[in-house]
Amino acid sequence: MTDISAHTRTRTLKSVDDLIAAGLLSAVPAAGLDAVADRYAIAVTPAMAVLIDPTDTSDPIARQFLPTVAELAATPGETSDPIGDAKHEKVPGLVHRYPDRVLLKLTHACPVYCRFCFRREMVGPGGAQMLDTPSLAAALAYIAADPAIFEVILTGGDPLMLAPRRIAEISQALAAIPHVQVLRWHSRVPVVAPERITPALVDALRVEGKAVFVGLHTNHARELTPAARVAIARLIDGGIPLLSQTVLLAGVNDTAEVMAELMRTLVSLRIKPYYLHHMDQAPGTGHFRTTIAAGQELMRVLRGTLSGLAQPVYVLDIAGGVAKVPILPNYLEPDGQVRAPDGTLYPDPERG
Ligand code: SF4
Repeated sequence: MTDISAHTRTRTLKSVDDLIAAGLLSAVPAAGLDAVADRYAIAVTPAMAVLIDPTDTSDPIARQFLPTVAELAATPGETSDPIGDAKHEKVPGLVHRYPDRVLLKLTHACPVYCRFCFRREMVGPGGAQMLDTPSLAAALAYIAADPAIFEVILTGGDPLMLAPRRIAEISQALAAIPHVQVLRWHSRVPVVAPERITPALVDALRVEGKAVFVGLHTNHARELTPAARVAIARLIDGGIPLLSQTVLLAGVNDTAEVMAELMRTLVSLRIKPYYLHHMDQAPGTGHFRTTIAAGQELMRVLRGTLSGLAQPVYVLDIAGGVAKVPILPNYLEPDGQVRAPDGTLYPDPERG
């Protein structure tokens, strides 16, 4: 754990100079980072800053949050909107990609800015951060007008950056729509800014008569600090089940050992592992990308190691907003043989 200065323990670091002053970057490797900072937002919360070991070039927390010049390198296929939000945006802030659910993007602000973010061209302090009142009203009207919408996924940015009072207002407005049965808040806050998970916030999230979930974005077991565990328990004990979302990141969690530890830790904290995302083609993120074959091999090891409860579904968002599809390894060969996790082939059980 880093011995950082007192002000860093209470303040989010938001610039290259802040990171140098905190001892997380040295001035020499920081050369060239101003161009990165001009293009992509920087924020490292106290909860994450104290986990970073600046002397370890392979530190998985540093890799997720500290800017590098590698972000200026373009890789073929990268695009500013890799999952095609714009194509499916029906009114400002509302994305309707699948018939029974919508995304409602409440804010462009996040407590941290992840260096691999799939919405990195949209999030950050530039421009309007919160969805304005007329746009929110239009989004609620759109949802109310379509009885096929069963689930609303609150996202951003990070929607748990909103004040509890605002979260309660939005929850109640959605709860008043009879066909909306599920509210799912996607957030990194319980991990990266656990102090924000107050009893007032939990109260704001709870809605009488509707199912409310939090989808927690976490990528490494070290992120699940004692403070994060308190925040997670507060949500779950408050009646809000948690699912996890993890991004497969080269140099962070792309070994079976690291991923298994994360999944086991999540289950031990009562969080159901949900998705393991293959990296989207966001600009300047090539240094985080693994191959799908490597991800499938990792999943094959997990299947042979962890209980079913601890298995995430490995998924890929087909570029351009086509759809999210599972890309798990195949255990059934074209000739009907079944492949065990260790690679051994067994006869088709129906053919004997
Ligand atoms: S918290 Fe989520 S939306 Fe915000 S920068 Fe990280 S990945 Fe992107």
